Amino acid sequence: MNILANYPPTEELQALDAAYHLHPFTHANALAAKGPRVITSAKGVWLKDSDGEEIIDGMAGLWCVNIGYGRDELAEAAARQMKELPYYNTFFQTTHVPALMLAKKLAELAPDNMNQVFFASGGSDANDTNIRLVRTYWAEKGQPEREVIISRWNAYHGSTIGGASLGGMKGMHGQGSLPIPGIAFIDQPNWWAEGGDMTPEAFGLERARQLENKIKEIGPDKVGAFIAEPIQGAGGVIVPPDTYWPEIQRIVKKYGILLIADEVICGFGRTGNWFGSQTVGIEPDIMTIAKGLSSGYIPIGGSIVSDAVAAILRETEFNHGYTYSGHPVACAVALENLRILEEEGMVDNVRDVTAPYLREKWEALADHPLVGEAKIVGMMASIALTPDKSTRAVFAAEAGTAGFICRDRCFANNIIMRSVGDRMIISPPLSITCDEIDILIARARKSLDECYAQLKADDLLKVG
Ligand SMILES: *Cc1c(COP(=O)(O)O)cnc(C)c1O
Repeated sequence: MNILANYPPTEELQALDAAYHLHPFTHANALAAKGPRVITSAKGVWLKDSDGEEIIDGMAGLWCVNIGYGRDELAEAAARQMKELPYYNTFFQTTHVPALMLAKKLAELAPDNMNQVFFASGGSDANDTNIRLVRTYWAEKGQPEREVIISRWNAYHGSTIGGASLGGMKGMHGQGSLPIPGIAFIDQPNWWAEGGDMTPEAFGLERARQLENKIKEIGPDKVGAFIAEPIQGAGGVIVPPDTYWPEIQRIVKKYGILLIADEVICGFGRTGNWFGSQTVGIEPDIMTIAKGLSSGYIPIGGSIVSDAVAAILRETEFNHGYTYSGHPVACAVALENLRILEEEGMVDNVRDVTAPYLREKWEALADHPLVGEAKIVGMMASIALTPDKSTRAVFAAEAGTAGFICRDRCFANNIIMRSVGDRMIISPPLSITCDEIDILIARARKSLDECYAQLKADDLLKVG
């Protein structure tokens, strides 16, 4: 009997989960007391749970299910590849068709000067690769002291030791003595929370110029790279002011340091272009990819490298690799995913049809008494909850209290929206239709109304 097809009722599943399963980014006992929802199947933008409830997935899983759930073509691509060649490595003088074909396809989709790919199993380990890649590059160029990589507070670059070190999440650094040596940080371009009395334009320049100051402080001959998400995702969908990225680009060029664009969320259509770098107008030397690369159907990630960086790397043996670098089944699934994204015109449809439609509805949420700014780029969006939008005030209650209440109301109303502190964020599948956007917005508004009523009843609308 297939245990996965004949599972016990919800309460029993929850008890088993509590007994045996440790969840990521979770307080295990708190979750066990509450009981997780058991997701059993999904189609398009809709999740189904073990009680038969249908939930609209405003987050595309974890920002990854770009083509939507339930595309049999990907299952068939995986089955075909598993039967043909389920595994082989590319370490010792061998290669295989799925890895080289996926690398070629990525070179086609990436900016013109980026044509070579190193594979990983996800975004975190791809960023670990990037640390070694950057340092190896500079060592090969005869400047081994260029070890430092500059990142930003509140950035997310993954959860391995390297990824979490590159990330600027203080809660993650606090567990396990991070960051590793050679990582430095500047502040994020979050105007709503940190812009004070500055205009967004002036603030964007100020935050970008922190990079130049940091380079001078460390010494330009010691800095190897700057890493950033074109638009911060897990940090709360922080859309930088328009002045920010051109100034960053000017600074990295001036000092000759490598620019790593972490495209794990922004890549593969999320922002209305193939890559977020194109949306914000930058020219990276390395792009981290994962998530939307396979629409989350199977784990795969990697680093796309510019021709100039690859030319140096190719001169030496790179002592680095993962057993599953370029896994044939993962590559086959990713190729099929990219075929669907491309042939069905999903990226163009986001840019021209669904993202503009979502933008109008999303920005209208700023009318709600609880909502300060409403920001959106393509299919990633955020709202800031505030007790007083005229002063961009924070709540007197502990940060995240209002966000948690709102998220719980969303969950009860069968819409997945995530809270990051007191920001609410969405990142739906790119396949979402305008009718489904209407449902998503109606449920978001209802949840905001209920959250507002609860904050009022609990006397939590006080300004901090
Ligand atoms: C999710 C994410 C990662 C980590 O990817 P994993 O596949 O979870 O290892 C890295 N960078 C960014 C920007 C991400 O959003």
